[in-house]
Amino acid sequence: MAEQAYLDHAASAPLEPGAAEAMADVAALAGNPSSVHAFGRRLREEIDRARASVAALFGVAPASVTFTSGATEANALALLGAWRAAAKAHPGRRLRVVASPIEHASVRGTLALLEEEGAEVVLLPVDADGAVSADDAAAAITPDTALVSVMWANNVIGSLQPVEAIGRAVAAERARRAKNGLPILFHSDAVQAVRALPVDPAAAGVDLLAVSAHKIGGPKGAGALIRPGRAALEPLMRGGGQEEGLRSGTENAAAIAGFGRAAEMLASGRREGAERMVALRDAFLAALRRGAPDAEVVGDAAKRVPHIVFIRLPGMRGDLLAMALDAAGFAVSAGSACDGGARRPSHVLSAVLDGSRAAHGGIRVSFGPSTPGTDLARLAGAISAARGRQ
Ligand code: PMP
Repeated sequence: MAEQAYLDHAASAPLEPGAAEAMADVAALAGNPSSVHAFGRRLREEIDRARASVAALFGVAPASVTFTSGATEANALALLGAWRAAAKAHPGRRLRVVASPIEHASVRGTLALLEEEGAEVVLLPVDADGAVSADDAAAAITPDTALVSVMWANNVIGSLQPVEAIGRAVAAERARRAKNGLPILFHSDAVQAVRALPVDPAAAGVDLLAVSAHKIGGPKGAGALIRPGRAALEPLMRGGGQEEGLRSGTENAAAIAGFGRAAEMLASGRREGAERMVALRDAFLAALRRGAPDAEVVGDAAKRVPHIVFIRLPGMRGDLLAMALDAAGFAVSAGSACDGGARRPSHVLSAVLDGSRAAHGGIRVSFGPSTPGTDLARLAGAISAARGRQ
């Protein structure tokens, strides 16, 4: 059997060798970054350097970057932290949170927690191209809205969301409110956008941006919450007061160093990498159209990140196709989750497709700038062959 082709970068991209080196160097250092002696100072320097690198990637000041264990934690800190700060300042007021229904489980799960804590969570409609509309978002924002949460790019189908336009709607509402009124904050999960697009939260009007290291060539278990305007948050954990009190706990210095190095590498290679991913995607889709003409790409053809393609083949179950492809040497992701034996369509597909199409699911193919074109060409052939056998 040919070597396995790794085409699941949206789940986790391979660790860049440069990031692995930075991690090994820092992992070998003794000490605690909070100690004032030379060992501690050396580790602190590494963390500060990584903070500067991550900040530069997003065009913010280093003090705007709070390191976390990943985007799951960054999303929780953003949403729970902002919500609790608002709820504390406005006791007894029923505050609203406006969100998209196609968010990652870490946002959906946190929204459920906010509901338990008394929030009114309002979910926006999604169109057939896999996007919410800024007009719908603006219409859902009331004087009691404390938070708006819409991801930058969807992790299942790769569709871009109108983040800049929603940012303008949030800014307009902020301007309308009296000086001592309720703050309104805009949170965006940018995990899947960073690899392919310049992500500038300040320019987009995003107050709270969640990012993850392992989707950009850094290690699993590192991420950051980025706050261009340093919005006030309640910390989730109390302890040693690291990360300016927002994220207590001894820093994972090696993982943070790996994240910093991956950010530096991405900053210098993103444009070229994105061009290569567009070329890879276009060649793959052209080959697929020849071999399996009825294959459909879910989501808008243009408003998307280039490296995530969700394909459905009418009448074919995505989970079975993903399993067949795994056996044939291709690691792709199935688009419908199986929970405890009960097949439930993915919430993203359910929001975008009609019932039976959503239930059949599809496969998510995701790759990176250094994915060999031959892997994708062979995959197109394998999908076409599976189609032919059906
Ligand atoms: N948000 C999105 C959109 C994601 O794709 C992921 C990772 N699958 C996460 C959040 C969670 O990131 P992490 O693995 O760093 O917790």
